[in-house]
Amino acid sequence: MTEPPADPPEETAEPGMIGTTPSQRQDARDPADVAIEFSWRYFEPIDYHAGHRMTELGIHTDLIGTPEHEVGIEHAAFHPHQRNAGGVSPEGRIVVESGIFNPTLMEPLGPEASQAWGKSRLRHRLDAIIAHEYEEGQRGTHEDAVEHAPNTKLPIYDESRELLRVLRKGEQRQR
Ligand SMILES: [Zn+2]
Repeated sequence: MTEPPADPPEETAEPGMIGTTPSQRQDARDPADVAIEFSWRYFEPIDYHAGHRMTELGIHTDLIGTPEHEVGIEHAAFHPHQRNAGGVSPEGRIVVESGIFNPTLMEPLGPEASQAWGKSRLRHRLDAIIAHEYEEGQRGTHEDAVEHAPNTKLPIYDESRELLRVLRKGEQRQR
């Protein structure tokens, strides 16, 4: 990824203008938009991988993926147009979302959580997401999922448990 210029070029820097100039906005794309674009391009292999990993972790077929007819998804474990890391239906059905590819996704949780997420490998993020959404589906609330996901009975990577612990600390500081 290219860094935006530290200073706007002379010709586009209008005196008294607040925020980014139009040329800066083009250069520095929102990482969430980049993640969505990437997600649509590789939708099929990512969807396959996400569903396969859920199966490996012992999640029942009935809880893997949902439809989303508005965007032409009949059934998928991966939803490219959604910006979060994942989601879970009231019935406990789990999906992974494009936020898995967004290194800045956890910025609202503070620097420690954001850095841990940003430098995590995708496989470790994936297991962390699946565990969080699984616990949320089983326990009913996001807060309970944050609390219990690091100790999930699902056989996720140790690195994913550690990531979930750091994210939990970030969430607890928000409250
Ligand atoms: Zn949640």
